[in-house]
Amino acid sequence: MTVAGAKYNPADQWPRDSDGELLLAGEQPLSRVVSAVGGTPCYLYDRAALRERASALRARLPARVHLHYAMKANPMPALVCHMAGLVDGIDVASAGELRVALDSGMSAQHISFAGPGKSEGELGQASAAGILVNIESFREVAILARASENHGRPARVAVRVNLPFELKASGMKMSGGARPFGVDAERVPELLGEITAAGLAFEGFHMFAGSQNLRQAAIVEAQTRSYELSLEWQDLLPAPVRSLNLGGGFGIPYTVGESPLELAPVIDNLAALAERAHTDMPGAHLVIELGRYLVGEAGLYVTRVLDRKLSRGQVFLVVDGGMHHHLAASGNFGQVLRRNYPVAINARTGAREVASVVGPLCTPLDLLADRIDLAAAQVGDLVVVFQSGAYGRSASPRGFLGHPDVVEALV
Ligand SMILES: *Cc1c(COP(=O)(O)O)cnc(C)c1O
Repeated sequence: MTVAGAKYNPADQWPRDSDGELLLAGEQPLSRVVSAVGGTPCYLYDRAALRERASALRARLPARVHLHYAMKANPMPALVCHMAGLVDGIDVASAGELRVALDSGMSAQHISFAGPGKSEGELGQASAAGILVNIESFREVAILARASENHGRPARVAVRVNLPFELKASGMKMSGGARPFGVDAERVPELLGEITAAGLAFEGFHMFAGSQNLRQAAIVEAQTRSYELSLEWQDLLPAPVRSLNLGGGFGIPYTVGESPLELAPVIDNLAALAERAHTDMPGAHLVIELGRYLVGEAGLYVTRVLDRKLSRGQVFLVVDGGMHHHLAASGNFGQVLRRNYPVAINARTGAREVASVVGPLCTPLDLLADRIDLAAAQVGDLVVVFQSGAYGRSASPRGFLGHPDVVEALV
């Protein structure tokens, strides 16, 4: 749908009818879907788009590479259930997420748990449920040893490694240098010794270098280096490696002009590593864990224009949702530079204008779009924020200023 030579615009990927009305799953007009869910503001997630994204990737991965969904990107229970049927495993980051993952029907065998500060209660729940715990500190070994005794079977564990390198060009770096995540690579031998002594069921390693990366070469390099690092500990393993989690970091384009990640080199590299694993660690599978890439593009955040203000020559569309529902779109979710998400006015074609989209909160931070080119909007029009399926509702300060919460629907 993109015109050759034109800048890639994520908003153009959604089908529209000739009146500019956006169409969701099964060609349903957006305005009707919004009425069906009870109005704005709302998050809408497109089932078909979610299925297509996960199935297309799954189909290109070798069987030895497992695709996991990192559910912190979008923990809506109905969506997690939908994803459970499309991926090989689910990664959770808290006991609350673990409950949703278990409800989804995903087998405990294929659920894993990572997080820099797991409480004793959470580790006990994980051990009882029989999921894989990615150990991130020496403290967790002792707690899991006690839990194993209580539950009459050894807890399943992998070692999360703080890599000795960074994922280059990443939106969010989570490895290399001093980090609270995982155990420094140089202390892994000592940790493996403690895991052996504690009698835990060792299954492998977990390496997660960073998030939101659009450079395939950087991802390929991090995956290969992670793989090779894991081989250094071959003689110290409490048991053969069954699972080697190489992380993820696959990004999606958020602004007009950013290009989507080129998957082919990443898939080829994973296939080559899977082939090497055949001899290096027989019986093991590789895992990639993705959040944003699987769900980010399948979600819309939809608000309605409450007011249209002209201030000293600048148009402000004041809408009924904002940063309290969608912190990331307002640029306040850890972004270094504020950049506009793709935004469109539903069912308006023709005259265009430069306008800013702001929320109802009494703070200049509540800005959804800063002076962008939009179809000229009127009070009552629907304003759509694209690329909103990941790190939306659950990653926003919904209590801030006491406005109503936002509805979510899987369409
Ligand atoms: C956040 C996180 C993910 C998901 O990251 P995305 O950028 O959404 O793909 C995966 N694994 C771990 C350990 C994480 O902390």
